[in-house]
Amino acid sequence: MSIADLHVHSRFSFDSCEHPENYLNRAIELGCVVTGFSEHYDYDAIIDSANDVTLCNLDDYTAYISSLKKIAGGHILVLTGIEYGYRAEAVAHYNEKTKQYKFDYIINSLHTIKGKGDCYHDDFFNGCELKESYLQYLLSVLESVKSELDYDIVGHLGYVSRYRKGKDVRLKYSDFPDILDEILSEIAKRNKCLEINTSVGSSGSNFLPDTDIIRRYLQLGGQKLSFGSDAHRVQDYMRSVQQLKSFLIAEGITHLYYYKDRVPVAYNIL
Ligand SMILES: [Zn+2]
Ligand SMILES: [Zn+2]
Repeated sequence: MSIADLHVHSRFSFDSCEHPENYLNRAIELGCVVTGFSEHYDYDAIIDSANDVTLCNLDDYTAYISSLKKIAGGHILVLTGIEYGYRAEAVAHYNEKTKQYKFDYIINSLHTIKGKGDCYHDDFFNGCELKESYLQYLLSVLESVKSELDYDIVGHLGYVSRYRKGKDVRLKYSDFPDILDEILSEIAKRNKCLEINTSVGSSGSNFLPDTDIIRRYLQLGGQKLSFGSDAHRVQDYMRSVQQLKSFLIAEGITHLYYYKDRVPVAYNIL
């Protein structure tokens, strides 16, 4: 089956204007049989700012995608995912929402760190060596994967490097082997899924996480991988999917996962 893009943002996310139908039409054109949406529900960002712009309206979103599922039924399986921005203080709130709404899957993403803001902004790195900032990010990711947050997929591991400019900004396994081993082992032990995200920005990596980190995850017993383009506009839907497919085949990986009703489903990518 064709590869399923599970990390997609539409107008229900604060940073996208794209209509969900445009993704659906593109998916059908490309012959996809499964596609997912993963709108931002970033309660982490509002803890400090009290601005609720980063919260997807979950009633509107879930109702809209339900109607799309009915229209699309028979042609393509449409999945309702959500992307939570991890913060310890937000976990109870997220778990409450998960009980309230019927998501197909939950992406656990780390965007912000308390007191430092979003890794997207240059301010995040002020007064800190690049490697020190990366380490702080990885420590927070470790906290997130070990937390009580009810999640399925670990999103864009290496996000901290995505918007870095300059030489040698790649977040490499060899620079942080111990903490990355802890993160990857925890994902494997909990039988969660590691996302391969193809929105790499200026990170210098082919994928987030970097290929060496994906290989290490498999060595440590990680079984589940998913694909996400992190598209915020339809042009980026299924971004770099051929490059990903070549990598997976070269590594001998034949299956990826999607989630329906919170249940992992393996599918053959060939
Ligand atoms: Zn994200
Ligand atoms: Zn995203």
